[in-house]
Amino acid sequence: MKTWEIYAIRHATNETRTRGVNFISDPDPTAPLTLDFFCWVLRSGREVIVVDTGIDPAKGEPNGHRQVMSPPDGWAALGIDPAEVSTVLLTHAHYDHLGYLDALPNARFYMQAEEMAYVTGPWMQKPTFRHAYKADEIARLVHLLHDGRLHLHGRDFDVTDGISAHWVGGHCAGQEVLRIRTERGWVVLASDALHYYEEFERGIPFTVAFNISDMMAGHDRIRELADSDDHVLPAHDPRLLDKYAAISPDMAGRILRLDHAPETGA
Ligand SMILES: [Zn+2]
Repeated sequence: MKTWEIYAIRHATNETRTRGVNFISDPDPTAPLTLDFFCWVLRSGREVIVVDTGIDPAKGEPNGHRQVMSPPDGWAALGIDPAEVSTVLLTHAHYDHLGYLDALPNARFYMQAEEMAYVTGPWMQKPTFRHAYKADEIARLVHLLHDGRLHLHGRDFDVTDGISAHWVGGHCAGQEVLRIRTERGWVVLASDALHYYEEFERGIPFTVAFNISDMMAGHDRIRELADSDDHVLPAHDPRLLDKYAAISPDMAGRILRLDHAPETGA
């Protein structure tokens, strides 16, 4: 049975934020809470799938998101030639997941059809819903679509043996999670359906939301798809650095291996 390795590239961090920025009605809103930024690589033998493409530092730095490692440097550290990557899964189109699209010149991109309708439709008239999207990157998606390099799929989509994508919505209209078969069972890469473990543990929403009821139902969907709560991976939580080992000492704090069991108690 085919299994996949999961690698996370910690490409940026923001140490200026507080709990109140991240969680609605938090009892300790002024306490600091770092927001880390990850993108991912799935590998099975010689097969490689890239998941999201990180953040363009020119777009992130004005918002305090400091680059730690460019995704292309992360791919290189994993021995990946970007020109040979054929499959890129985009979990949603927020700008911190859509930088470096053009660093993968031969890839076909996959995204929820509902996300494309959302980012090119009437909700983008509302600043609160469009603020995490960048028009030039959405235009780039339109070009990729017309070039036959962007495949827009339905809510539940079989990517390949051992990987499927599942719509949850909530954070944005087309947010998806990925279900990945690993040696230790089915892991769910929640992407921004969970920014922090705490949302899942306490059943609370993240502040950036298109639809909070879908966001909360997404927690249940993640539990259906994963073998256990210890098989769930959030997208922006610094606790990942305590729970999962780096691929090598020189990649500490930059590239983590996420398909192994997490350290307990972290
Ligand atoms: Zn994100």
